[in-house]
Amino acid sequence: MDIDLARTWVQAIAAAVDKHKDHLTQLDSAIGDADHGVNMHRGFSAATTALTDYTPPTVGAVLVKTGTTLISSVGGASGPLYGSAFRAIGKALDTPTADTQQFAAALAAGLASVQQLGAAAPGDKTMIDAYAPALAAFQQQANSGSDFATAARAAADAAEDGMRATIPLQARKGRASYLGARSIGHQDPGATSTALIFRALAETVT
Ligand code: ADP
Ligand code: MG
Ligand code: MG
Repeated sequence: MDIDLARTWVQAIAAAVDKHKDHLTQLDSAIGDADHGVNMHRGFSAATTALTDYTPPTVGAVLVKTGTTLISSVGGASGPLYGSAFRAIGKALDTPTADTQQFAAALAAGLASVQQLGAAAPGDKTMIDAYAPALAAFQQQANSGSDFATAARAAADAAEDGMRATIPLQARKGRASYLGARSIGHQDPGATSTALIFRALAETVT
């Protein structure tokens, strides 16, 4: 991962969110307040705009700028949560390039930051249910010496499995938790956007 790839990743997320905006909002209308697509679209559009006139010195600076922009532009829970994740990932990548091991450590810092802020655990039917398995898959590939693209593909596959596995869960965090057992049978919107983020990474680094 270098500075250009980091920027391309954020642009690829913005394009994926744009394409899947209605689906994300539809998922959020079933168990939330029908704004997840709008929130993600606003945040990542603002992030790509913020990156346009910015000459980042490091990979991390691209991602810190992205996170800061998400926090300031998104009103919903997902803005601060993704914002803190991208800021933490970025702070861990204070170099012009990042190898697979460094990126694995940065992704771990991002997950820790989401969990510190949102206090959700795996199985609570949140973005964590896609992020945690994606991180585990990325780390496993990094530790076995796989290249970045292979690790990113494994992470994207694991995120999508985790996303689908939220369907039978009952929500214990966020707005969906207000529905209690009625949240069962619906795919979590945030786990779905997390899967888009990891798929965008895999497609960027190939
Ligand atoms: P809001 O719920 O404020 O309208 P969004 O609709 O943009 O915000 O995002 C909802 C998503 O945020 C949920 O689907 C879930 O994945 C995620 N989420 C909500 N609360 C938490 C939390 N405490 N920890 C992790 N993720 C959370
Ligand atoms: Mg919502
Ligand atoms: Mg909302």
